Amino acid sequence: MRGRIAQACIKAGRDPVSVILTAVSKTQPPDSLEAALATGQRVFGENRVQEAQGHWAERRAALPDLELRLIGPLQTNKTVEAVELFDVIETLDREKLAVALSAAMKKTGRRPRVLVQVNTGAEPQKAGVLPAEADALIAAARDIHGLSVEGLMCIPPADEAPEPHFDLLAEIAARNGLSVLSMGMSGDYETAIRCGATHVRVGSALFGERNTPLKPS
Ligand SMILES: *Cc1c(COP(=O)(O)O)cnc(C)c1O
Repeated sequence: MRGRIAQACIKAGRDPVSVILTAVSKTQPPDSLEAALATGQRVFGENRVQEAQGHWAERRAALPDLELRLIGPLQTNKTVEAVELFDVIETLDREKLAVALSAAMKKTGRRPRVLVQVNTGAEPQKAGVLPAEADALIAAARDIHGLSVEGLMCIPPADEAPEPHFDLLAEIAARNGLSVLSMGMSGDYETAIRCGATHVRVGSALFGERNTPLKPS
């Protein structure tokens, strides 16, 4: 996978070290996590706090260079657990969550970096701040709530060409002085790299199809 990302960088005229692979390990069994770690992979994305604790709470003690990124929606009542586990929270999308994150950081003494998730397609069912409200949320998160906002994240609509969405995210980041762009998944990471992604979030193209989560019996 890192070879394919490097190729996409070269094709786009970019230095391969400028794009980081976030391995999306949600729903993966322990063997898959260990196999990825054995290849040297250290940056992982998870979309649920509780599952991420199961995957990483014990493993991380032996992995000082592990970087855990929350890429799924976060409820305000889970912010303390999220701040304790994650190094980066990619899904800040409302001021109420910024308030809760700020309080959780004061309480725990940990300061994960933050990305603002933008709903570039303005899809009603999807998380993310609307593009027209992104500048205000970024400013509030940084200036009022003291969060370390370093970039933006998006998930384009499944049934549309992703490029205009990636371009829009890059434009919002540029005008707010943000350097990190988390965009591109298994199906569109090459396009995202062409549009300036600094982090691509790849699950199935790396691990194979996801297993269905175990149901409690
Ligand atoms: C699951 C997930 C991914 C990875 O998706 P793939 O298509 O399997 O690469 C990326 N980003 C988010 C937010 C996800 O929930």
